[in-house]
Amino acid sequence: MITFEGVTKRYPDGTVAVDELSLELPTGQTTVFVGPSGSGKTTSLRMINRMVEPTSGRIAIDGQDVRDRDPAVLRRSIGYVIQQAGLFPHRTVLDNIATVPLLLGWTRRRARDRARELMEVVGLAPEQAKRYPHQLSGGQQQRVGVARALAADPPVLLMDEPFSAVDPVVRTGLQDELLRLQQELRKTIVFVTHDIDEAVRIGDAVAVFRAGGTLAQFSTPERLLAE
Ligand code: ADP
Ligand code: ADP
Repeated sequence: MITFEGVTKRYPDGTVAVDELSLELPTGQTTVFVGPSGSGKTTSLRMINRMVEPTSGRIAIDGQDVRDRDPAVLRRSIGYVIQQAGLFPHRTVLDNIATVPLLLGWTRRRARDRARELMEVVGLAPEQAKRYPHQLSGGQQQRVGVARALAADPPVLLMDEPFSAVDPVVRTGLQDELLRLQQELRKTIVFVTHDIDEAVRIGDAVAVFRAGGTLAQFSTPERLLAE
């Protein structure tokens, strides 16, 4: 479980991005942060892996304060997927996916075997392994991004608008794929989107953010739809 206890983030220019946020995100479930642009979703996500430090309050994973973890080590145990995949342009698909295992000191052989396995898991054909990111479609790049985030089998996966930059048909396919994957993997996923339809489709739980960085609602998709 990931817990936010009275978490506030005030940026140096005085902007309060997140205001006294308290939340419990259950292990093995997908929690979606949805809300308008600027409502503090990304800031909240990035405080989980310490890319952003809270001004006050506490974030814990399975009871352990994230501040007690070394940020670099913490980040290797938390998969992270962003909108434009954030792939390394000068590394092949295979080497992109193998990034974290190599950082963890796996042998090249083992890291690449694992990367090939992940390509299959996310539905990338083996012949894509030697391609470079610019030779792939947007949807394929996002698949590589997901495979890279899963490579070292982290228990937690942070996804920041992972499918927003691809066209609607591909997006629906990627959402289906994530739902299928999650049935097997049961990761603790935090998924940011501004699209309520996507939130309802992907989420086991939905946290609705509003301007000022507060929560309007924390509910199941079924309850949200019933209102
Ligand atoms: P969302 O993900 O919901 O769009 P963000 O967390 O990105 O929201 O941003 C929340 C608020 O914090 C916005 O007003 C945004 O402009 C501001 N903000 C985000 N990052 C920074 C930063 N590095 N410095 C100052 N203000 C920031
Ligand atoms: P740096 O080159 O800044 O020292 P690393 O080589 O550790 O960083 O990582 C390179 C990039 O990979 C960084 O942008 C970092 O955010 C990202 N990264 C590191 N660990 C992970 C992870 N577990 N999942 C996804 N991306 C990661």
